[in-house]
Formats: sequence, structure tokens, C-alpha cells
Amino acid sequence: MRVPIIAGNWKMFKTVEEAIALVSELSKKVQDVEGVEIVVCPPFTALDAVNEVLNDSQIVTGAQNMFWAKEGAYTGEVSPVMIKNVGCKYVILGHSERREYFGETDETINKKIKSAFEHALIPILCVGEKLEQREAGLTEQVVRTQTEGALAGIPAGQVSQLVIAYEPVWAIGTGKTASDEDAQKVVAYIRKVIAELYEADTAQQVRILYGGSVKPENIAGLMKQPDIDGALVGGASLDAESFARIVRFK
Ligand code: PGA
Repeated sequence: MRVPIIAGNWKMFKTVEEAIALVSELSKKVQDVEGVEIVVCPPFTALDAVNEVLNDSQIVTGAQNMFWAKEGAYTGEVSPVMIKNVGCKYVILGHSERREYFGETDETINKKIKSAFEHALIPILCVGEKLEQREAGLTEQVVRTQTEGALAGIPAGQVSQLVIAYEPVWAIGTGKTASDEDAQKVVAYIRKVIAELYEADTAQQVRILYGGSVKPENIAGLMKQPDIDGALVGGASLDAESFARIVRFK
């Protein structure tokens, strides 16, 4: 059985003080929740402080990106060792905003995924089509290419631990969510691609989340879909009450 994950992607929001206030409030609101893995992904600058606050809490943390090298002359970058060192369990890789504004490609994302596993971090790989690709009937082709590219050369033993977030780009930050059925269809397709690349067993273990304008009002319907194992939440994760309501989707 796959344990559901509700992960908050804070993007470029929250100073250290604001981050501490948010997780302090959140951890109180979700302390009795069972059977859901709760993840918050603050900006790099707040990771250390947030991990300290969450020390005795069931909430775990992830970074929003990383570079693939362990260390070196890479001005402005943050390494997997550094992320691990402050206590992160996860790292979001290949988010559409990184693909769009920072030139990330399936090839660079693949290098980062390999490096994350080498450093005992679990990647949350983001895939998803743009509006024009959906309208041109290319959704399956796009998520297939992104999944295959990201996973090239990654062994089954690692892939089974992987988390994938299906995030249609047109649904991110727009208030437009994919319908429960559409989201289920694409998520099931991604699982099928994994089954083709590896084995049915591996595909059954991978947790696949939906992301894109997830809110307290639409989480329940998404979570009822058989292949959707959770959500990657942007905007609504910046408010403790909203995020706590999403975590309590049942
Ligand atoms: P959103 O963002 O929930 O604000 O649409 C989701 C994401 O980008 O991960």
C-alpha cells in the first residue's frame, strides 16, 4: 500500500521568521493526523530553521531544487550534501517553473535525480504538459518524454522510492484544476509508462501526486482517484489553516 503524501511547495515565499511562524502553527494543527506523510518545502534560506522547529514533529521537509555536484565552484548553487545536512528528506526536481525560467531540461533533471538518490534524498519529480500541448492532444507524449528522460539509467530499486508529481502547467497558480477524471487518467498513464520501463511491481510502489491549484475544496475528489497518491500544493500551502485542511482530506 502506498502511503499518501501531501507536500507544500512554498516557492519563493517566506522569510525565516515567517517560515518559523507557519510551521509552528501547522504542526499544532496536524499533530493528530495519521496515515499521511506531510512534507513542507520552504526556500533554502529557511530550511535549517524549519527543520529545527519540526524536530519532534511528524512533518518532514524537502528542498525545491539542488545542483547535482556534491560541492565545487558553482556560484549560487546548493548541493545535495547541504540539503541532507540541514535535515531534508525530499527534493523537488524539474518543477515547471524551473524548466520555464531556469532552462532545466530532462537531461539536467536526470543528473539531479541520480545525485539525489546517491545522497539519500528522495526526489519529487515534476512532469506536466502546457496548455497548447494539451490542446494539441500531446499530454501523454509530453509526460512520457519527461518521465523517460528523467529516469534514464535509474535502477528499479531507486525508482520504487521515487515520488512523481503530475502538474499540468496550465493548472499551476491559475485556480484551474484538472478534473478528477483527467488527473486520474494522466497519473494512471504515468504509472503505465513506469511499468513499461521497469516492472508492474515497481510502478505500483511509485507514489504519484497531482499538483495545480489544489485547495481544501478540491482535494477530497482528487484523493478518491485510485492512482492519485497525494498532492503537491503551492499557493494553499502558504496558509497553515488551508494546508492543514488539505492534509485532512479524508
Ligand atoms: P499551485 O502550485 O498549487 O499554486 O497551483 C502548485 C505547484 O506549482 O507545485
